[in-house]
Amino acid sequence: MNVCIYRLPESKSIIHPGSMCPKCGRQIKYYDNIPVLSYLWLKGKCRYCQTPISLRYPLVELISGFFATFVYLKFGFCLEGLIYFAFIAVLLIVTFIDIDHQIIPDVITLPCIPLCFLATFALPTLTYKDSLLGLLAGGGSLFAVAWTYHLITGKEGMGGGDIKLLAMIGTLLGWKGVFFTIFASSALGTVVGIIVMLHTQKDRKLAVPFGPFLSIGAIVYVFFGSGLIDWYVHFLR
Ligand SMILES: [Zn+2]
Repeated sequence: MNVCIYRLPESKSIIHPGSMCPKCGRQIKYYDNIPVLSYLWLKGKCRYCQTPISLRYPLVELISGFFATFVYLKFGFCLEGLIYFAFIAVLLIVTFIDIDHQIIPDVITLPCIPLCFLATFALPTLTYKDSLLGLLAGGGSLFAVAWTYHLITGKEGMGGGDIKLLAMIGTLLGWKGVFFTIFASSALGTVVGIIVMLHTQKDRKLAVPFGPFLSIGAIVYVFFGSGLIDWYVHFLR
């Protein structure tokens, strides 16, 4: 995942060459490339040139380890769990790339849309019709928001990358998942946006990447979605 975050936005191959130190260019040996542990026994520095290794690498490794554990606890060791873990991994990659570069590469989201559609045939909780509706709702609703915003302000507020990301999310989570994701990410994004706004100068244009919020909303839905929606519907009655 770190390799994807680092190389995909720069259009570099994620297979070749193998991992190397960005400073001295020396290849990293397999025993120095073990998630989290290698960082600890190298004391956070390159073995050859002693350049400090960003804390981001073990952090991403730790986060993906936690999610692998959560997925196992919820779904068990099965195809369904594997699909959801792959989905979460893609969302985490998108999150960190969007934070670093304010882009969501098409090379990630576009191929994932048909893959998510195929995956629905292996998921007991989602029909392919639900998946198609999710794709349309996800791509369509954000497109409508972006178009309206553009019409009113004449500026581009929401990136096209966000629209493709939500289309991908909708394909795997279905239309209910899309609406949950929009609701949760908007609520979270508003809170964080206000906090950021209070801490920046007035004349500076505010640019908060939205991909991370969409990703968090979608991940929350994977674990708690059906329960939350049942609770909400029950609450309305
Ligand atoms: Zn080095």
